[in-house]
Formats: sequence, C-alpha cells, structure tokens
Amino acid sequence: MKIKSNKIMNPLSDILKKTGYGYALKYLFAMRLISYSFGIVKWSTTELKNLERMMRTIMNKHKWHHPKSSVLRFALSRKEGSRDLIDVGALHDKLILKLGNYFYGNAGNSALHHAVSAADDKFTPLRMMHVFNSRNTTTKMDIEQWSRMSIHGVYYNELKSPHVDAKLSQLWLINKGIFGETESAIFAMQDGVPTRNYVKYVISEPNAPEDICRRCGGHGETLNHVLAGCTLLTNTFYPKRHNDVAKIIHLRLAI
Ligand SMILES: [Zn+2]
Repeated sequence: MKIKSNKIMNPLSDILKKTGYGYALKYLFAMRLISYSFGIVKWSTTELKNLERMMRTIMNKHKWHHPKSSVLRFALSRKEGSRDLIDVGALHDKLILKLGNYFYGNAGNSALHHAVSAADDKFTPLRMMHVFNSRNTTTKMDIEQWSRMSIHGVYYNELKSPHVDAKLSQLWLINKGIFGETESAIFAMQDGVPTRNYVKYVISEPNAPEDICRRCGGHGETLNHVLAGCTLLTNTFYPKRHNDVAKIIHLRLAI
C-alpha cells in the first residue's frame, strides 16, 4: 500500500512546490485525481488516515499548514472559520455511497445492475451485499469537538461571543486573495500556537523556555496576553491599534 500512496503523493508534492494563485486549484486537482480510485480500489480506514497525514506533512513542508494547528479546522467550511480543504475520508465514503446507490437505483430496471449489486459480497469496495456504515464524523460533531478544545477552542468560543460578529470576522476567508502560507500563519496564531505558553504546556517541549512574556516579562505568554494584556504595549501598540480602527470608522462615516 506504500507504493500506492507514494504513486499519488509524490506527484502531489511536486505540484505543491509551486506556490501562487493557482496553488489551491492545483491542490484540488490532485485530490480529485486521487478520488477517482474511490469505489474501485479498496482503501482501509488506516490507509485513508495515512493519506490525510501524508497530505498534511507535504503541506507542512511547503508552509501551507502549521504542524501544530488544529486538524479539525482543516476540512470545515470557511463560513465556520476553517480552511475548507478536502476531508479525504468523508469524500471516500460519499463516493462509495453514491456509486452504491447508483447500482441499487437501477437494479429494478436493469438485470445487469441487479446482478452486480446482488453478487457483490465484498468483491468491490462498494460491498453492495452489506450495509455500508460511514466512518466519518458530521460537521456538527467536528464543530462541537473543536469548541471543547482547551487551547484550539479559544478562538471558536471567542467567535461565538455576543460582542463578536462571526460573519464579518470570517469575511477575509471567503473573499480570499492571500497566499496559502499567510493563511496558514494566521490560523496558527488563532490557534495560539506561537506563544511560549503553548510550547511549554501544550507541546511540552523538554527545552521549552519559561512561560514568560518576551516583551514585558510577565508570567503567562498566552494569546490573550499578547493581544490585550501586555503592560509594555498598553501605552504604545494597543492605543495605536485602537486609533487606526477608529480612523477607518471615521473615514467610512465621513464618506
Ligand atoms: Zn507582556
């Protein structure tokens, strides 16, 4: 099975070496090619998980996905604040069900379709003589799991706060015009990955530095501390950020 995966993933790696506006389209094109084998070639759950892992590894290599970013946000929709990349397992199961339903749907009118669906006792990945149970979680289940995560879930729960307009906050993801590398870096920051608090207590690196803010020296360099709690930024960066936003609002009102 390693040969099968490499045959798919090596060309994908070559494609991902090229960055730019066509980058996402090339990624989608490569994944679409892989999906042609679903329903024809047998893929086990482990193999599909490995394929997803290999895909993320390649994307990490090309800085399109931070290795410590939330995996759950990989395939959820952009309206939910995620990357909207392909969930290989879900796509596999969707195509299997679709192909199986095609045979079942035509079995009443066609002796050939009836014979094929009645004889498929695990001969094909469709396994039409058996009930196919999808092994993938629903979007709702993934979102619930994301919201319960202690670090990665902070951003999600902030989005759902009453003072936050979640729709406008995700607009940059829908009206996208930025490189995949930049998007990946923003997602990593939203997940709280680059802070010392994360490195010390979540990744638990053996040689991690003390969880002390690199700017003010205060205890606990969390994302919230960097964004709104650092004493050394209180008189400099935070007022500037506030004034810059106020300028935009003032200009919009003046037009
Ligand atoms: Zn600080």
